[in-house]
Amino acid sequence: MLQKREKVLLLRTFRGRTLRLVREHYLRPGVPCRSALCPRPAACRNGARPGGRPGEGKLLSTDVTHYVIPDWKVVLDYLEILEFPELRGIIFMQTACQAVQHQRGRRQYNRLRNLLKDARHDCILFANEFQQHCYLPRERGESMEKWQTRSIYNAAVWYFHHIQDRMPVVMVTEDAEAIEQYGSETEGVFVISFKNYLDNFWPDFKAAHELWESILQSRRERENESQESRGREYPEHLPLEVLEAGIKSGRYLQGILNVNKHRAQIEAFVRLQGASSKDSGLASDILIHGMKARNRSIHGDVVAVELLPRKDWKGRTTALCENDSEDKAPGEASEPMPTGRVVGILQKNWRDYVVTFPSKEEVQSQGKNAQKILVTPWDYRIPKIRISTQQAEALQDFRVVVRIDSWESTSVYPNGHFVRVLGRIGDLEGEIATILVENSISVVPFSEAQMCEMPVNTPGNPWKVSAEEERDRRDLRKSHLVFSIDPKGCEDVDDTLSVRTLKNGNLELGVHIADVTHFVAPNSYTDVEARTRATTYYLADRRYDMLPSVLSADLCSLLGGVDRYAVSVLWELDKTSYEIKKVWYGRTIIRSAYKLFYEAAQELLDGNVSTVADIPELKDLDEKSRQAKLEELVWAIGTLTDIARHVRAKRDRCGALELEGVEVRVQLDEKKNIHDLIPKQPLEVHETVAECMILANHWVAKKIWESFPHQALLRRHPSPHQEFFAELRECAKARGFFIDTRSNKTLADSLDNANDPNDPIVNRLLRSMATQAMSNALYFSTGTCAEEEFHHYGLALDKYTHFTSPIRRYSDIVVHRLLMAAILKDKKMEIKENLFNNKDLEELCRHINNRNRAAQHSQKQSTELFQCMYFKDKDPETKERCISDGVIYSIRTNGVLVFIPRYGIKGAAYLKNKDGLVVSCGPDSRSVWKPGSLHRSQDKITSTTTEGECVTFHLFDHVTVKISVQAFRCHSDTIRLEIISNKPYMMPNTELCPQSSLLKSELVKEVTRSVEEAQLAQEVKVNVLQQEYQEYCQTKGRSLYLLLEEIRDLALLDVSGNYGI
Ligand SMILES: [Zn+2]
Repeated sequence: MLQKREKVLLLRTFRGRTLRLVREHYLRPGVPCRSALCPRPAACRNGARPGGRPGEGKLLSTDVTHYVIPDWKVVLDYLEILEFPELRGIIFMQTACQAVQHQRGRRQYNRLRNLLKDARHDCILFANEFQQHCYLPRERGESMEKWQTRSIYNAAVWYFHHIQDRMPVVMVTEDAEAIEQYGSETEGVFVISFKNYLDNFWPDFKAAHELWESILQSRRERENESQESRGREYPEHLPLEVLEAGIKSGRYLQGILNVNKHRAQIEAFVRLQGASSKDSGLASDILIHGMKARNRSIHGDVVAVELLPRKDWKGRTTALCENDSEDKAPGEASEPMPTGRVVGILQKNWRDYVVTFPSKEEVQSQGKNAQKILVTPWDYRIPKIRISTQQAEALQDFRVVVRIDSWESTSVYPNGHFVRVLGRIGDLEGEIATILVENSISVVPFSEAQMCEMPVNTPGNPWKVSAEEERDRRDLRKSHLVFSIDPKGCEDVDDTLSVRTLKNGNLELGVHIADVTHFVAPNSYTDVEARTRATTYYLADRRYDMLPSVLSADLCSLLGGVDRYAVSVLWELDKTSYEIKKVWYGRTIIRSAYKLFYEAAQELLDGNVSTVADIPELKDLDEKSRQAKLEELVWAIGTLTDIARHVRAKRDRCGALELEGVEVRVQLDEKKNIHDLIPKQPLEVHETVAECMILANHWVAKKIWESFPHQALLRRHPSPHQEFFAELRECAKARGFFIDTRSNKTLADSLDNANDPNDPIVNRLLRSMATQAMSNALYFSTGTCAEEEFHHYGLALDKYTHFTSPIRRYSDIVVHRLLMAAILKDKKMEIKENLFNNKDLEELCRHINNRNRAAQHSQKQSTELFQCMYFKDKDPETKERCISDGVIYSIRTNGVLVFIPRYGIKGAAYLKNKDGLVVSCGPDSRSVWKPGSLHRSQDKITSTTTEGECVTFHLFDHVTVKISVQAFRCHSDTIRLEIISNKPYMMPNTELCPQSSLLKSELVKEVTRSVEEAQLAQEVKVNVLQQEYQEYCQTKGRSLYLLLEEIRDLALLDVSGNYGI
């Protein structure tokens, strides 16, 4: 049945050589046509195979007026337009897809593949070259291009007849001859140009037309440019083969380009990768000084670098610098470091960039060539981009998305094209959308295909435990007292606890986690979407869930009083020593008896039973049974706490760290108050819950690693580099403390001891510095590194993973599947699911790590956005909110870094301004700018005026700071701090108004309210942006509490603001 064919491919290599490639393939009678109109779906094998690829079962819908088949050139040049979900019924021919693969490279090809997989897009792949009637051999002398177009047309005709002429087919091509030749050849199959198609079928689809114009213009510019012979701005890149050979021989080094945000025109660093990092013998990154040496590489690109001779090495800048006065006053430079130049780009990591068009005046100053506009990216690290557009004036008040197309060696700036408008500059929604795009976070609403996979749970048709599951699972509903302890307002309860006494007198501790993988099948639409998102994103005022709410807030949420599926870990502990005797893992059915809040649980733990009123589950009981229930619950919480104390003590002996972030969570519970930074006594019940979760994560890590030593997903936290602790040690010394950073144990102990009884902020700042010196905790596949490297430094555990939050983290979903497979393996049962192999798992881990960083950045940036909106346009002279106490935590050559406890803000305060004046404080301690000079020593900085007045600022000094906002048109606004007095700030009438400090949630609320009021006042007419706004407002609401809960996790991640250091 199968006929063998050979296909000859001629590929042009990087150097311009032609490569002849012969591919064999077999022709078949049945190839999936993926049309719902197919008369023989079985013969076409249109169904999805079990465990097949995502998107495999996708069928073209029937409710369209035509199918559209883009020719190869259309796919090559206009894929972005075909990505609009409004364009439906698209058939991508294999021939066109291969053209993309061969001519546009991996990035573009992956985009196409993702589009095909995406359930939200009504498009399919038809493997025309495998279909025996569609396949056409190439004729002698026929060009590749002509053959591709002919093949696609031929397949289009076959397809039309295959679906029994029931749906007209439109082939769109850029080949005028083909339109001429095939245009009226077959009735029902239309052949027209892409422009013609958009004009006739989508006359009102403005965005598509604009994008078409924009792409066309950009392409024309490029063609013109390559014809003009102009001066060369940059050296040519070396061919790929040369780069690869050079890297192998050690002549060139490979790494990722990181641009210094604060000196974007001048400083970039290359962090070495792969063999380069081991063999080069270089301990540091490589400095790339200046745009010429950067040679058109863009922040995030993987580059090949050549080291310069030692005499040309330069130092990095250490002074504080302001973004708007780039390079005016070169700051002091450190010791010369390895310095190099980029000789080629191995992988371009270009993404969508948010930019701002120049204002009208600036356009005029850009000169006669006004069609090419230089736009400024929001991200300082990205160079200006040249956009060809006639809409510059209309776009000047908006945040706009653009893409880079090319960067020729003859051009100072890269060329790009306009994609879409996000929102008005300065509007909350526009700025939030900017943050999302800049972090590559896509949060379109869940698709219909995905929602169809969700279980039904309505009042009329409530979800029930199935008989089958009842048989297969261990039923804990009657035997175990299960309860949850969460922050107030928590909807998605991932975890619950239980403890009981066994018949033999031993204790049994249980951790029960939502069984998300029961509802989310591998490679289902829900799974693919969750994997893409990788995490729930928490912004300052909203969140974007990883899973649809029917799962996250309902069926997977372990709410009180309802039956739920869980995955449980049960430990048998010795009754006195709490030593772990046995552990059991498996699927269970639970019914949580109480959904407790931290505060109520703590009261019970403290023996304060008067809070019973706060526990709704106990409200309606008679006195006697209530007493009995209460006693049972108090015993359980007390016993859990005992066990947790014991487990914690064991980790402490190994050097577990209490880090700064942990306290942020605590800080909000009792008073929900940013002012109150160091509660001496955090709620112990927090520790209890956290410790039980850490224990479960640790034991699951051991289990999945033992079962799958080379393909288990674990989380490691590498030991920090000692040199990163230098600043911490110096600072502590300034207050007479010694910080021993040799191990996590000594660090933890010495941080505990570094406590100033008069100023608790000192300890908090030291812990925060320790946090910043840490490396990031990372997910990894156990097949990629040696067992010693699995270690989790912060938690002092040899193995760790994430198992306890599958509703909010995709890593936990993977871990649940691994655990289920491990249990089957123990029972010698067949593992039906395909587990990730080491390579794929490592790839997935990289993705999840990357998304976690995006989650962190977007959270931080959105918080900063709210802070700026809170202070913006407030008069610092009259508004009390703008004056606050600050603590100096770092000394620089031209200023200091200040922490403001009241708002949790960190920032730079300059002691020398642009005019060269220095801060001077008179006898009334108020500061004024005067001519003079600065002198910095280890732990202090002294400003001396020419008149001889002197003021010295020490580390940990409290000063009075004025907070204002520096507005930027093209970038995010930033908070500015100015020291207005060298004395601590005394809040006026502190006694009279104890609530003078600000809740963070109130800050968010106030900003949101004023934004809404402003909108009402403006009475903005509904515009095109409205729809986009709605898309982004997926879940608005009180998520701040959860946000801060999340920070617990961030404690081990890098959350440092980098102030030009
Ligand atoms: Zn078919």
